[in-house]
Amino acid sequence: MLTIKEISVPGYEKVVEGLDPERGLHCFIAIHDSRLGPSLGGTRIYPYTTSEEALSDVLRLAKAMTYKSAVAEDGLGGGKSVIIADPGKDKTPDLLYAFGEVVNHLKGKYIAAEDVGSTIADMTLINKKTPYVAALSTEKSSGDPSRFTAWGIYRGIQAVCKKLWHSKSLKGRTVAIEGLGSVGSKLANILFWEGANLIVCDVKQNLVHQAVHDYAAKAVHPDDIYSTECDILSPCAMGGSLNAVTLPLLRCKAIAGSANNQLQNPNIGEGLFQKGILYAPDYIINSGGIINAAAEFDPGGYNPASTRDRVNHIYDILMRIFRKSEIDRISTDQVADLIAEHNLKHQIGKRKSEITF
Ligand code: NAD
Repeated sequence: MLTIKEISVPGYEKVVEGLDPERGLHCFIAIHDSRLGPSLGGTRIYPYTTSEEALSDVLRLAKAMTYKSAVAEDGLGGGKSVIIADPGKDKTPDLLYAFGEVVNHLKGKYIAAEDVGSTIADMTLINKKTPYVAALSTEKSSGDPSRFTAWGIYRGIQAVCKKLWHSKSLKGRTVAIEGLGSVGSKLANILFWEGANLIVCDVKQNLVHQAVHDYAAKAVHPDDIYSTECDILSPCAMGGSLNAVTLPLLRCKAIAGSANNQLQNPNIGEGLFQKGILYAPDYIINSGGIINAAAEFDPGGYNPASTRDRVNHIYDILMRIFRKSEIDRISTDQVADLIAEHNLKHQIGKRKSEITF
């Protein structure tokens, strides 16, 4: 039997825990802030070892979605869901149906989407129990977000180049990419054609071999990517990789990648600032995917061309952040948070028309 329990968490609008032992479901959904629109965030399916670990992850990720959407002015709020399960072994239609019932219980205040461990096929099953699902494989869908995320990272890297070297050009610059998955592989392709030299790593050797073959990339071991000398380090794998261990190792001039929650804590952002390493805040530079997903709800329907124009704007937002960081002598992640909090307070970017499902 499915039970849905509310958990009171200060600073969050609503957090629920869904349990259905017969169908193998144990999940959390966190709605951090829906002042600017319904909260949209992916469904992460991951074998967390404890409930506490899953809850702390969903809270952190939901808040980051609020800030990401607030700066992107995409008319969405911040939310996220996690299912405690091994996506390779435990994912069954019954589990996903039970999860869909939990999403439905929130009556559209939370919209689920694909994330680490979940696929479009999973979203299609969840959609059988609730309409509140984005990026399905339908005609109206915004489709795979990673192509827009990768383009946004490229625009962010151009902003970094402009700030540091007074030219947007990537020609002859060395970029080290950690992770050659959906985003990292597309980014590598763009950077190659823009004339950059690539250094790459991934835990999957086939992806590394492909990049070495296709782009004359130099391969390094994943343990060495943070100490590799390069112009720009681009973390496109997992979060928390900028931490007390990696910070002293860095030999790059800037960091600009897609991973969510790259800074293990705000002190690391300050540490990067003190070291003179230009940091493109993660939730700004990687907002291409959410901008694309939000476009699905445009009154006129999804249009990739207008979405591209919005994603291109990531360049301008980052230039603004870099300037303010320099003038006010505060780290770039702090500047980003100030912009997000300002937009939330003054309802900038608030959704104008209701989403119809
Ligand atoms: P993905 O799972 O397709 O790719 C991640 C890659 O990183 C995989 O190839 C994996 O083998 C590799 N990897 C894992 N651990 C590693 C390690 N320690 N060292 C080197 N490589 C490692 O994911 P993705 O969709 O490409 O997303 C990459 C990151 O960007 C994630 O943190 C994701 O949350 C974030 N992000 C993605 C999108 C999107 O549109 N897909 C949008 C915003 C943020």
